[in-house]
Amino acid sequence: MDINVRADRKIRNRFEQGQGWNIDVAKALWFELNINQNSSSSLTELRALPYSEYLKTSHWKKVRAAMLLIEQARCSACPTDDSFYGDDWETEIHVHHLHYRNLGCEKFEDLKLLCRKHHEEEHHH
Ligand SMILES: [Zn+2]
Ligand SMILES: [Zn+2]
Repeated sequence: MDINVRADRKIRNRFEQGQGWNIDVAKALWFELNINQNSSSSLTELRALPYSEYLKTSHWKKVRAAMLLIEQARCSACPTDDSFYGDDWETEIHVHHLHYRNLGCEKFEDLKLLCRKHHEEEHHH
């Protein structure tokens, strides 16, 4: 699939015009170009899965790995100096969906990293 068709138009325009270029734009663009490559048929399949099964798919593993990489495995709610989770980081850092509208083709802006504590808080509002 043509990357230019898939890339989010707003992000791409900002990239091409060199306007509003910052680290968040770079992260979103990288995510868009590298992650959102599912065909519409696999999108339908992904969305039909129970959420617990969805989290086991290679798509989600890829999204999760990308988020860990981009955000350096740091909780977005913890103070920066505090964001180290030792040997347990793999189970202590979660990728949280801000909403589920783009399930199967998540955008960078749809997700954030949270530690276990902040993730539980987010879901108990
Ligand atoms: Zn946290
Ligand atoms: Zn969550």
